[in-house]
Amino acid sequence: MHVVYVARDLWEAQLLLDQLIELWIKARIDNALCLSAYGELPYLASRPRVVVERDSDVERARVAVREFEARQKADVQGVKRCTRCGDESPENFELCWKCGEELGAGR
Ligand SMILES: [Zn+2]
Repeated sequence: MHVVYVARDLWEAQLLLDQLIELWIKARIDNALCLSAYGELPYLASRPRVVVERDSDVERARVAVREFEARQKADVQGVKRCTRCGDESPENFELCWKCGEELGAGR
């Protein structure tokens, strides 16, 4: 089992996981369920990690992670802020990923 990425949040981890699965890489999110149970752990330890299960997939997964990170940076402008909860969703989302509020056209 190899940790290939430590995500900021579950949503980011899930995005990466989807991409790995598209490449037929067997991966999963680790730590996702312990967020509240272990609230006293250091911040880093409680962040969701994306882990790859097979050694043979690790190299390909690392390449995918680099592309993913590059795209994340390029996408920084493309977010909409929810008027209800204040969280950010990707520009192409119509509903807030967190609370389900409808997102307007603007930022
Ligand atoms: Zn919201």
